[in-house]
Formats: sequence, C-alpha cells, structure tokens
Amino acid sequence: MALRRLPETLVNRIAAGEVIERPAAALKELVENSLDAGARHIDVSLREGGQSFLRIADDGCGMSHDDLSIAIERHVTSKLPDDDLLNIHSFGFRGEALPSIGAVSRMSITSREKGGEDAWQLHVEGGSVAKPRPASLSEGTVIEVRDLFYATPARLKFLKTPRAEALAARDILDRLALAYPLVSFSYQEDDKKPVRYQAQEDLLDEDVALEARIRAVMGHSFIENAGKVEAVREDMAVRGYVSLPTAHRATTRDQFLFVNGRPVKDKLIFGALRGAYGDYLPRGRHPAVALFIDVSPALVDVNVHPTKAEVRFRDAGHVRGLIVASIRDALSGASQFTTNSLAPMALESFRASPQNPLQDSVPRYQPRVSGGCGRNYNSKPSSAYVLSEPDLMPAAPPQVRTEKEEQEEEGGSFVSATGRLGAAVAQVHETFIISQTQESLLIIDQHAAHERIVYEKMKAELAEGGIKRQILLIPEVVDLDEKMRSVLIEASESLEDSGLVVEEFGGSLLVREVPAILGQADVKAILQDVAEELLDKEESSAVEARILSVCARMACHGSVRSGRKLNVDEMNSLLRQMEETSGSGQCNHGRPTYVEMSLADLQKLFDRR
Ligand code: ADP
Ligand code: MG
Repeated sequence: MALRRLPETLVNRIAAGEVIERPAAALKELVENSLDAGARHIDVSLREGGQSFLRIADDGCGMSHDDLSIAIERHVTSKLPDDDLLNIHSFGFRGEALPSIGAVSRMSITSREKGGEDAWQLHVEGGSVAKPRPASLSEGTVIEVRDLFYATPARLKFLKTPRAEALAARDILDRLALAYPLVSFSYQEDDKKPVRYQAQEDLLDEDVALEARIRAVMGHSFIENAGKVEAVREDMAVRGYVSLPTAHRATTRDQFLFVNGRPVKDKLIFGALRGAYGDYLPRGRHPAVALFIDVSPALVDVNVHPTKAEVRFRDAGHVRGLIVASIRDALSGASQFTTNSLAPMALESFRASPQNPLQDSVPRYQPRVSGGCGRNYNSKPSSAYVLSEPDLMPAAPPQVRTEKEEQEEEGGSFVSATGRLGAAVAQVHETFIISQTQESLLIIDQHAAHERIVYEKMKAELAEGGIKRQILLIPEVVDLDEKMRSVLIEASESLEDSGLVVEEFGGSLLVREVPAILGQADVKAILQDVAEELLDKEESSAVEARILSVCARMACHGSVRSGRKLNVDEMNSLLRQMEETSGSGQCNHGRPTYVEMSLADLQKLFDRR
C-alpha cells in the first residue's frame, strides 16, 4: 500500500466536517471574523436556513489584495501575532473557517482594507480558488456563501428543515449580539422583516448598553423578573442577570453563557447553574440567564474543541463555586419577590368576573391546589405549625383606617414599619392572606409561603450540623406496605440526618424521633410522603440531595394548612418571616407564594384612571 499526502481540498473538506457542521456554524465563524475585524455594524441575511444562501456584511478593517489572496489557505491567520496559545483575545486563531467553508460551497469574499485605495473580490468553488479581481465596495468585507455542502452530499443529508436550521442560525446570532452590545446587528431570514439590534453610537457605558441589548434579545420581561449577578474577585468576575425561580422555562434555550466574551455551552457552567437553583425549581424546568464570566486568559483553555463551545478552566472548583455563590446571592436578594408577570394574569381573572355578574357575584379566581403537596388542600387543620399559639378566632375583618392613620402612613413610614410585604388586613377562604403596602395589594398563599419558610429553616439547621430532632414521648408504630417499609429502612441513616429516627418493628415501623420544627404533625403521613419521595428519586442521587428532598417533603407537614384560620398577628408574623427568608417568593415546588397587584392596576379595574 502506497502512502500519499491527501490533496489540500480533501483535507479542508474533512476539516469542514468538524468546524462547519451546519449553516449556523458557518454564520458563527463569519460573524466572529467580522467582530475580530473590529466591525461596528454587521448585517446578516440568509435563505432556506442558510443552506442555499448566507451573506455577512461588515464595516471592519477589511483585507488588502495580498491578504485576500492567502486568507482562504489553511492555517492562515492574522490573529496569533506571537504564537501564544495561552494568550488569546480574538474569536479566531486557528485559520480554519474560510478554507473549510470554501471547500464545501461556492463562496465569494469582497473586501476593502481600511484606508486602502480599492476593493478586491475572490471566488472559491468547492475548494478551488480563483485570483482576486477588482471589485467595488466602500468599506469592510462582504462574504456570500451559496449552496453550502453541495460538495459534500453526505453532510447535506444530515441538515434539518430550513426552519430548524434558521432557528439555530438565529440562536447563534442572538448569542453574539449579547456578547457585543456596542455593535449593531441586523438579521434577515428569507423575505421576512429584518430583526435589528441597534447599538447607540455614542453610548460609552457598557453596562447600560448591555442592559439594552439584553432587553432587545431576551425581552423586557426577562430582566424585570431577574436578579442581578455581580461578583468580582481578583482573577475572575461573574456578571449578568438570572431569572427568578418562578420565571422558569421549559428548555435551556434562554441560557446565554459567555466566557471572556465568547458564547459557550459548557458542561461545568450548566452544572453550576443547576447547583445554584437546586431546589428552587420544579423538576424539568430551567432558569433563563445571561451570564458573563471573565477570567484571565491564562486560566482558561478555549482550544478544547474546534467550534470552541466548550472551555476548560484551570481551577474548575473555584469557577463553579463563584458562579453558584453569586447566583445564590442574586436570588436571595431578589427571590422573596415573585415574578411580576403573574400580576397581569391575576388581574385578568378578576376582570373575567363582572361579565357575568349574576352567576359570579364573587370574584372567580380558582384557589390553586395549594402550594406544595396538593392533596392537603382543605384537609383538617393540623395542630403543627410554628406560628404563635393557635387562635381560632374568626379572621379579622378588613380594617377600616382613620384619616389620621392614613396621614401618619404617608412619607414612607408605613412600608418601613411593616416591611416589603405590607400589613395583613384579612384572610379569605381560610387559605389566602390579603395584605396591603402603600402602593399595592398582595394575595399570599399561606400554606405555600409557610412551607418555604419551614424548609429554609430546615436547610439552615442542616448547614449548622443537623436537623434538630424531638423525641416522641410515645414512639409511634406505623403500618406501611412492604415496598415503602424497606426503602425507609434502607435509607434510615440519611433519614436520621433529616431528623427522622425510624426502626424496624415486626412488620411495621417504629418512629422514635421527628424534626422538632414539625411539631405534632401526622407521623404516618410524613413517612408515606418520605417513602414516596425516596422511591421517586433515582437511587444514584447523592445523599445530600436525598436529604434535601426529604426535608422538602416534610416541610409540607410542618406548615400551616390551607383551611386554618389565622388572626392578624399570625398573618403578619408569617409575612415578616417571608421577608427574612430567601427564596420565599416560591414554594418548594417552584410555584409562587404570592401575587402582587399595584394600586394603579386596581384603579384601572374600577376605571378610576
Ligand atoms: P481565523 O479567524 O482563525 O484567523 P479564518 O479562516 O476565519 O481564520 O480567517 C482567516 C483570516 O482572514 C483572518 O485571520 C483574518 O485576517 C481574515 N479575515 C476573515 N474574515 C475577515 C473579515 N470579515 N474582515 C477582515 N479580515 C477577515
Ligand atoms: Mg475566523
């Protein structure tokens, strides 16, 4: 067998398979080249998902005749001036994109070097390059790619529908647009109306520009329901916005991650995100984030993968730790607040009622199956709660306030005296607390809110060395089916850390101790719930995660029930505890614990505005 060197074109086609796997990848390489060239305006258009046509025009530094002649040769780059792979400040550096795209398509590059006399155009078809010809172009570079992958029919077969390819292209553009808020972008798909991300020309404050760009790309409601992340250390910084846990999404598509200005989809960072949100999110739901991580280029390797979507940090633990801590900080600052996008929903349901005044003289919001455990809705009042003594007085009627009181409240003292969640005025349906602040009305789901508080207290106790237990005066014998019994016995050690001391007792279980915070909750119901949780959780899940999920289940039993009357003091004490508890804007299942309606909205309801 004779050895031979593969022809250049074939080498480039093989490389194209790695770097350019779909039209969106070509778009990414070309837009990154424009950004590397210092462009302030980048216009992208494409047809049929970018397969039949893709065009990128920029006003960057351009290329001279001589540069253009070699730009499509493999491993030709202007971006590694001192051969230092540890010090990379540009997107490109491998010199692979242009030759790869040129090898599998019909491509033309038209360019004029900044300050240069004339423009030149170069054609490449399936890897064969023609000599540059004079062209006309006022500035920058225009690259047109037609019939991508025509030279590699096998690849062509793997493309998805034009619609799916266009979505992927748009996703890439959105990510780059977020990374470069000072650059203007436009994007046109087939004959649709172009999308424009305008940068204000004279805007110097990058923070302001970034916020405007995030609003443009991710929508206003994202930022309005997000916490701000800002953590700066000596060698590393994490900045951006992360959605409140109640504003969760079905997919990870709205997770925009950047390392040193480069969009990435990095496993370590995804893992850190999951860790940071942990039990604040319902299963299978995802936060939306725009997160910018900056580390010294020497501490991160971007050359792990040809598309550079993954990176490798020298100190992964440190990076993960800072991401988790900074997101938690942002959420604990913001997350006693629930998303404001719920208020319009609530408002709508109020609005619905007057349309049929006879049938529905009572506002017709459906009491949600109450926060958390669902089946407890309207169950018998439990004696277990951690508020003040039970007080079965009827709920206080809405207070009528005197003029004098109202005057006293003006000037802000009202809010500061009562706190962010206002003063409780009434309880309705023995399920919801109504409270008011100076400019709004709040409806709080008492069970969901309290459940969160109990759970957070348990977590704090865990962190301090273990859940405080209380010995039952008379150990309780509980009968459960075989499967539940055995899963509880198997887990008895980690259950002890969660505050439950259980042992086998003939064909039953003997419960000796329960978490002190649960008071005299229904022991059998707790065991059933915990067993279900354990059966539900994968065997493999870490002990720590198991303990937390058990605590979340138990918290439900230690919480004031829907259906229990509360007096005003109890209600206010619950509100104050919510204000002190991080994450109290949602219950342990990610559902909101309260909704807030502004006075202005209320006035609108009654046409007072
Ligand atoms: P890399 O970006 O890794 O250097 P490419 O194959 O993408 O490799 O590009 C090769 C070279 O062509 C770049 O280093 C740059 O000098 C030049 N180039 C590519 N696109 C542009 C552009 N839009 N404006 C100016 N120069 C460009
Ligand atoms: Mg490049």
